[in-house]
Amino acid sequence: MSITVVGSIAYDAVRTPYGGRDRMLGGAATHFSLAASFFDTVHPVGPVGTDFAPADLQTLATRGTVTADVTTAAEGRTFFWAGEYGPDLNSRETLDTQLGVFADFQPRLSAAARACDVLFLANIQPSLQASVLDQCDGPRFTALDSMNLWIDIARDDLNRVIERVDCVILNDAEIRQLTGRHTLLTAARELLARGPSAVIAKQGEYGASLFTRQGFFSLPAFPLESVTDPTGAGDTFAGGVAGYVAAQRDRPVDHGLLASAMAYGTALASFNVEEFGTERVARLTFGEVQARVAELHRFTQFETPLVEETV
Ligand code: AMP
Repeated sequence: MSITVVGSIAYDAVRTPYGGRDRMLGGAATHFSLAASFFDTVHPVGPVGTDFAPADLQTLATRGTVTADVTTAAEGRTFFWAGEYGPDLNSRETLDTQLGVFADFQPRLSAAARACDVLFLANIQPSLQASVLDQCDGPRFTALDSMNLWIDIARDDLNRVIERVDCVILNDAEIRQLTGRHTLLTAARELLARGPSAVIAKQGEYGASLFTRQGFFSLPAFPLESVTDPTGAGDTFAGGVAGYVAAQRDRPVDHGLLASAMAYGTALASFNVEEFGTERVARLTFGEVQARVAELHRFTQFETPLVEETV
């Protein structure tokens, strides 16, 4: 069994109040793969440019990730993104996006990538997401992420892919932007009516919420004393969610399973933000992840506080 992901494989330039990096390995598919690789074999799909360093391919291959569907284009540069975070690390401004080799990329999946059990369409042009979805042989679970850029410039394409996946994982602001609804509940219900059976709203340092036809579930982010670089937290979270679903291969993907999956996504994302880029998750152990999942479980419990009416 395996997980296939299409999305950016990138170099990022990042500035945060705690420092920065001019050029580090990043990209949605990269962060996703590093997280999902704890649970199953991952097949990232995407092109890199002639500037892509062998050492970065090695990082992508952490924990057995198969890089056979990462193709080096004959010419052109790797996807590049530059961003800067505000003082509270919640707001971020994109300073530059260069599609590079992604501009002309036509995915052609290997047999192993097509045969995946779980497919994640990470953030990239919706037309590429659709092409990868077309080529897969009926995965058990499909999920999608996107961002404001694609909602702005490729909304119709994005809407068509959303209708075809099981789960939509977006930031809360993107869910509002996509649906034009002000409350997250009505926005999520509108997305559920379009076909997906689950919507997960990522809410940054406030955690994530799950909406299905069975109900609602929410988890806070794992509380941290210091955050260095939030880049890739959303993709790392999605890698934990999709990875957990892949690992639970004999169970139906229902509300309860997705809630547990969110705990793994939340724990993994909390490690991602502690250092720049892929630095922390690349050397993470599963024991460290399990310990944070257990802590999350412990501090989200409370006794049913039923009291008698006193007046
Ligand atoms: P996140 O912080 O989870 O939103 O993801 C950040 C990652 O997304 C960075 O590593 C970037 O390389 C990548 N990224 C930024 N903009 C785009 C875009 N327009 N399309 C695809 N990937 C992007």
